[in-house]
This record gives sequence, structure tokens and C-alpha cells, in this order.
Amino acid sequence: MAASPTLLMRVVASAYSVAEKAARIVRNVMATGDLGIVEKSGANDLQTKADRLVQMSICASLARKFPKATIIGEEELPPHDVAEELIEDGHCEEILKKTCPPQYTGIKEEELVIWIDPLDGTKEYTEGLLDHVTVLIGIAYGGKAIAGVINQPYYNYEAGADAVLGRTIWGVLGIGAFGFELTEAPAGKHIIVTTRSHSSTLVDDCISALNPDSVIRVGGAGNKIIQLIEGKASAYVFASPGCKKWDTCAPEAILHAVGGKITDIHGNSFHYNKEVKHMNSAGVLATLRNYDYYASRIPNTVKQSLVP
Ligand code: AMP
Ligand code: MG
Ligand code: MG
Repeated sequence: MAASPTLLMRVVASAYSVAEKAARIVRNVMATGDLGIVEKSGANDLQTKADRLVQMSICASLARKFPKATIIGEEELPPHDVAEELIEDGHCEEILKKTCPPQYTGIKEEELVIWIDPLDGTKEYTEGLLDHVTVLIGIAYGGKAIAGVINQPYYNYEAGADAVLGRTIWGVLGIGAFGFELTEAPAGKHIIVTTRSHSSTLVDDCISALNPDSVIRVGGAGNKIIQLIEGKASAYVFASPGCKKWDTCAPEAILHAVGGKITDIHGNSFHYNKEVKHMNSAGVLATLRNYDYYASRIPNTVKQSLVP
């Protein structure tokens, strides 16, 4: 008889279905035309009704199944009951069929920290750049991002009415990542993907110093990691504070599961234990391949400007 699925695989399988429900909420809110936009720290830091409903849906759904796990979501919401219609209790059977890596079979629920970005790329969502948007569920153990789910609710939205809308990418360290076709960026080309709505002189100076062949400016940390694993870009470079642990946890797990690397601009790993500072103050540097090429070319002046 097959062994019963481990806690980690059950969490990932549930996160998959929870992220699919989240994507339906993201699309439904947009379809109503009433986004309920609120400014958080300023005009480039927004929250919509979709951010709020999705956070409630994901956190309440996962907390109901895994009450002892620590769940940290981006949005600060007043405590209230979550409507039953927002709860998802399904899971992805395919994920439960995978073998859990031996180093994770003994994980206890209270040792997991789950980082939620209910809607990554909110600014772009409000501007109709819909395929920039992702839902991020990152799973950390021992301070390390070990598994993640990225849902892209509007994947294929420009491909016509017959195309299947939306997709879910998931990965676990030691198993791999699924839901997309792993592709390397063109050899010998330096294509940098960076922020679209949170640029600064430092962000631009850092990119110029890398002498890229081209620069892609798109929203969302999840979306930028997808650009790396699908070969559209060779490095994600963001020399600025602003990105938080919920932005990087799920993307990091998926990128690392396929052999990529993500750090801050100094080359320091991110830590995802529950006590950690949320802000990735020293920016982001990520690649699928050739990490050292980019890391070795980050100017010292840029590094000196970004304190971890
Ligand atoms: P971006 O590449 O600009 O889409 O940023 C990636 C993630 O980091 C998104 O969740 C942004 O909201 C967040 N972020 C980056 N810079 C800032 C900032 N200056 N203020 C608020 N959020 C930011
Ligand atoms: Mg985000
Ligand atoms: Mg967000």
C-alpha cells in the first residue's frame, strides 16, 4: 500500500486548489468593474477588493486545514469572520502522488511558515496589465523557502476566447517545478527583467552597469520569476527596497527547485522564519542560470546604497 501523503505534500496540494480559487476571485472582482482601490503607503502601493478577499480566502482556507502553521499575509485587515463561500477545501491529487523528499517527511505543522501575497502586481491589475498579476503562496521550513505555488489568473488572456485562461505553477525543492515548460534564456544575451512601477535612479543605474542587450519592465515579483523560468529574461535585477518576503518566498522555492538562484543585491540568501523582517531591504537578484555573471557585475556603489 502506498504511504499516506506527508504534511508538506498535503499543504502544497491544498495550496494549489486554494490558489485556483484565489484566481477565480481575482477575475470575478475585475469583472464587476468595482476594484475598491485603497492607497497604502502611497499611490504606487495599492490594495484592491481582490487583494482583500483573496487574502481572507487563502489564509482562512489554509488555517482551517493547518491550524498550527504560521500564516503571514501581505494585507493588514481588521479581524472578522470569513464568509464560507471564500473557503476552499479541495486539493490537487496529482501533487499527493509525488514522493516527498526524505528531508521533509518529518516536518511538523507548527514548523511551517506560509507566506501569502494574495495579489502580486496590484498596480498593474488596476491598469489592466492583467497577465502581470500572480497569486503567491510560499512555504518555508527552517527559514528556507522549500515549496511554492504561483497562480497566474490571466495567463493566456490575450490569446483569444478559445484559450484556457489562467495557470498554476508549483514546485518543491528536491522534486522540481511543474505547470510550465522550463526554458533557458537565449545564450550569450543579457536580458534583464525589472520593475515597471517602482523604479528609481539606483534601480536604473544598476541595470545600466550590467550593460544589458535589452530590459523588460513588468510588474510583479511572481511574474518576473516566470520570465526567468520560461527563458524570456536572463536576470531579475531590482536594486531597491520594496519587495517583501511574501513576494519572494513562493518564487524562490520554484526557482530553486529548477536550479536557479535568488538573493539580495549583495548575494545574501533570504530567510523566511516567522520573526524575520518583512522587507527585502537590499533588493533582489535572481537568475535561472549564470548567477555569478550578474552578481559579479553589481557595482559597489549600488551595494553601498542598499543595507540588508
Ligand atoms: P514590482 O517589480 O515593482 O512589481 O515589485 C515587486 C513587488 O514588490 C510588488 O509586490 C510590489 O508591490 C513590491 N514593491 C516593490 N517596490 C515597492 C515600493 N517602492 N513600494 C511598495 N511596494 C513595492
Ligand atoms: Mg507583491
Ligand atoms: Mg500583493
